[in-house]
Amino acid sequence: MADSLWLGAGETGRITIDLDAIASNWQSLADTVSPALCAAVVKADAYGLGATRIVPTLAHAGCTTFFVATLKEAAEIKPLVDEGQIYLLDGLLPDSASTVADLGVIPVLSTLDEIDDWHRQAEQSNKKLQTALHIDSGLNRLGLSAGDVARLAQNPAPFDTLKLDLVMSHLASADVPDAPENQTQLTAFTLARALLPDAPASLAASDGLMLGSAFHFDVVRPGYALYGGQAFQGATTPVKPVLEVTTRILQIRSLSRGDTVGYSATYTAPRDMRIAILAAGYADGIPRTASAATGETGGAVAIAGHVAPVLGRVSMDLIAVDVSQVPPHHLARGADVEIIGPTCTLDLVGKAADTIGYEILTRLSPRFERVYLQKGANT
Ligand SMILES: *Cc1c(COP(=O)(O)O)cnc(C)c1O
Repeated sequence: MADSLWLGAGETGRITIDLDAIASNWQSLADTVSPALCAAVVKADAYGLGATRIVPTLAHAGCTTFFVATLKEAAEIKPLVDEGQIYLLDGLLPDSASTVADLGVIPVLSTLDEIDDWHRQAEQSNKKLQTALHIDSGLNRLGLSAGDVARLAQNPAPFDTLKLDLVMSHLASADVPDAPENQTQLTAFTLARALLPDAPASLAASDGLMLGSAFHFDVVRPGYALYGGQAFQGATTPVKPVLEVTTRILQIRSLSRGDTVGYSATYTAPRDMRIAILAAGYADGIPRTASAATGETGGAVAIAGHVAPVLGRVSMDLIAVDVSQVPPHHLARGADVEIIGPTCTLDLVGKAADTIGYEILTRLSPRFERVYLQKGANT
């Protein structure tokens, strides 16, 4: 690829993705939830890290069950999943049933209308279609209501043509171990499931699987934890970081006391100080909410392990950081700067920008080079 010809020279930022670490995270989660099956959620291009690289890695590690959100995402990974299942979390749109059936992926149906569509599709194609049902247990996002489940139980005709592969629900507050919603949703899910034909069940994602085996059922659906995220607030999820994001120093500047930094002059230097201008901004996925006006704490980067806080507004292509705490010999034009890594962890970066690591991850832009590490082959 032409990419690799110029990689290095003039490169302003890169995401290094450790595929072996992703495989090892999946294995570790699979061991944690065994005998339940550990699936992998690879929606949004595997949380922005590259589904076409990550799906084969996970399949090679032994993962057989994948979840995506959209039909386009399903079509992209379908050729990469020989023997295994792809679940489509968005389910069916009014015009998509035949395309979904042709592609051979399993829609997660959340409404009685979708169930009707899929039932009709099965009748037309004259074969039983694999099906998943999403039950709402309190999140009030997607899913059949308790009333829908009761109606379906009274009129189970669709199940003549549908093969029920999975009944699932999704937790609202799984990151907080003692949130009352966890037990309420567990009970609601168990009751609803009992009204439907017998089928494997799934309730837990990355945080839910940390709530203990009562939440594991037959299939767990982690996404964020596979990518090294630590959102669970009760204990450390048994996964390790998988990515580093770096940019480079374009310029070192000296400020005099009273100088301002960046658009709208929101930061005023309280003393003479040194700052570095970095080659990344909101167009790269550094949120503008990481900005820091005078007196505010915003985001931070790290240079050779030393923290350098953001000063003023994050702009489209650039950020200014305070390098007062960085030893001068690390401050060279072109030097690497850690945006996400051992010092600025994904979850800390999210917190510092008033958001979550999930959003940081999925918004890292194509402007960053993506470099994959894998035993014997770094590409
Ligand atoms: C995104 C999603 C997941 C994965 O969630 P993580 O917190 O990333 O593990 C699982 N199930 C559903 C329904 C989702 O939408």
